[in-house]
Amino acid sequence: SVYSRIEALDDKIGAYLTLTKEEAYEAAAIIDKKIAEGEKLGDLAGIPMAIKDNISTKGVKTTCASKMLENYVPPFDAHAYEKLKEAGAILIGKTNLDEFAMGSSTENSAFKITRNPWDLERVPGGSSGGSAAAVASDEAYFALGSDTGGSIRQPASLCGVVGFKPTYGAVSRYGLVAFGSSFDQIGPFTKDVEDCAILLNHLYGHDKKDSTSLNVEFGDFTEALNKDIKGMRIGLPEEYFGEGIDPEVKKLVLDGVKVLEGLGAHVEEISLPYSKYALPVYYIAASAEASSNLARYDGVRYGYRAKDYSSLEELYVNSRSEGFGEEVKLRIMLGTYTLSSGYYDAYYNKALKVRRLIKQEFEEAFEKYDVLISPTSPTTAFKIGERTDDQLAMYMSDICTVPINIAGIPAISVPCGLSKGLPVGMQIMSKSLGEASIIKVAHAFE
Ligand code: GLN
Repeated sequence: SVYSRIEALDDKIGAYLTLTKEEAYEAAAIIDKKIAEGEKLGDLAGIPMAIKDNISTKGVKTTCASKMLENYVPPFDAHAYEKLKEAGAILIGKTNLDEFAMGSSTENSAFKITRNPWDLERVPGGSSGGSAAAVASDEAYFALGSDTGGSIRQPASLCGVVGFKPTYGAVSRYGLVAFGSSFDQIGPFTKDVEDCAILLNHLYGHDKKDSTSLNVEFGDFTEALNKDIKGMRIGLPEEYFGEGIDPEVKKLVLDGVKVLEGLGAHVEEISLPYSKYALPVYYIAASAEASSNLARYDGVRYGYRAKDYSSLEELYVNSRSEGFGEEVKLRIMLGTYTLSSGYYDAYYNKALKVRRLIKQEFEEAFEKYDVLISPTSPTTAFKIGERTDDQLAMYMSDICTVPINIAGIPAISVPCGLSKGLPVGMQIMSKSLGEASIIKVAHAFE
């Protein structure tokens, strides 16, 4: 079973925080029984899946890789998990991440690091590094992650698998531990584009428990497979191929674009000048939302509680000081600062205005192009420890992925070759709800 693979490999890779072997075998037995009784099975019946440990799984620890939630067992399932379970998929374990999904390397986990299966001295990317590494090493058939600024696509790129960030609102956030609520989306990691399309069919759909959930018909994404891309219009935003992008990464992505051109697509260079403000906009707006979302961890209601305190104030302060790691504290401080009176207009409000401009710029581009293509990550997987002391270098890992969350549009990362033995990912983006175009192009490329 997939557990023999995990037992053989995961000491080295460290993709999982919790394994759910007993529950998995019980679920498998139920499926066997259904087969014996001739009952109809869901189309994911018996398929082993891994889930990022910031997505609620009833009765199974959901820690967010934080000391704060080390022993937290949620009493409910996330909507996304429920949907996959209904289709027969079996949870085999919960995967490692950067604490509360804040990071780009999975080195911010309070419990352990995860190693890149392609080179154990390197990071798998993040924050969904455990999910990406699990799929890349065949320790799971597919996995769920969450993407606030690139946390599905960037690790997918660094681990050589497919990762998809849905249109904002297409997948319910119910049961996803909130980071930046107006950016967060749950999405799949798979081996190929076909599996990705099948999973989107299950994950997409309205959920009244998420107030931002879209109530629209999504159609069948597998219909976009095996389609001609002749005449499709592809834009290459020059800002995403410029400074900071490794030349070999750039070359492999452009080689990929040539393949698509060979299949009949029209390719043109375009400019998205507001993209250069994406990183500051993201770190202001997402941290502001995070500081508000993380206010609930106060040591009183649930989660970690400090042992020593002599007043209510001290209970809050000590629990939060001891329970949160460095990066999380940094984001909370940044967020409360930009939201405080006197700075609100200068930072938070301004970030929202620029957010609007970035969104408009994409909307205009998609009047002319079906998809835009860029590298997913500016470099291949970096060495463990290499960027931990260099905040800016770490944040730069997301320059190509963050604008997509700002605009709320969908994007995929698909493998497009190896540079010095390490995988490179190509990012394909579309307008909101343009998933079919992404699947079409990605599948044609693959
Ligand atoms: N790396 C980015 C951050 O640290 C994105 C994280 C994410 O998408 N969850 O915020």
